[in-house]
Amino acid sequence: MSTISLLEFKNVAMAYDGIIVFENFNLKLLNGETVGLTGPSGCGKSTVLRLAVDLVSPVSGEVLFKSQPVNEWEPTELRRRMVLVPQEASMFTGTVEDNLKWALDIHKMDYREGEFERVLKDVLLDIEYLGKVAANLSGGQKQRVAIARALLLKPDVLLLDEPTSALDMEATLAVEEAINNLIKVSDLSVLIVTHNKEQARRFTSRVIEME
Ligand code: ADP
Ligand code: MG
Repeated sequence: MSTISLLEFKNVAMAYDGIIVFENFNLKLLNGETVGLTGPSGCGKSTVLRLAVDLVSPVSGEVLFKSQPVNEWEPTELRRRMVLVPQEASMFTGTVEDNLKWALDIHKMDYREGEFERVLKDVLLDIEYLGKVAANLSGGQKQRVAIARALLLKPDVLLLDEPTSALDMEATLAVEEAINNLIKVSDLSVLIVTHNKEQARRFTSRVIEME
């Protein structure tokens, strides 16, 4: 871990239709660090992730990726380097392999030998999953495929929005194990949103609480 800040929020205020969601929000995600972001429903956790990838704009303050305002990045490039995995992972038609290929196509990236196997392994899924129809997977398996799909882009930062909130206990444990493995084997920086404070502590060295 270094002290280079990859993602930084400086005194950010956010509003929708003139209604303030939060003000004076600060966050620093360092290189190689995993940070948890918790807080009650509606406090603006998902909004923080949307601000990070410049899907919405703040009222005031700065959102920086690698010291450069996110709105000055080319959007596709920003969203390849910092991938947002939404709360309920959407699978595209076809197999898991089709889903992985699709991610590469969108970003005009070439497939490299063994890469699909590698990203599945990172989320503790074996190679057999490549041939399975994505729509038929369980919620937890879909979530792990969505994370694998994100990993293919070789991002610097992974933004996970409540990765287990829609899952039962067993699937939650499987996804937590996959994320823990990923944190161990990679030098990714991860920002995990969860309303579950216990979960945040299980994953992360640092937990930021929103009011
Ligand atoms: P959280 O992820 O912590 O549950 P959100 O970031 O989704 O919170 O939402 C924060 C607040 O902003 C909520 O009050 C929500 O209703 C509101 N909000 C979120 N998205 C929009 C939107 N597109 N338009 C208007 N209000 C929104
Ligand atoms: Mg949310």
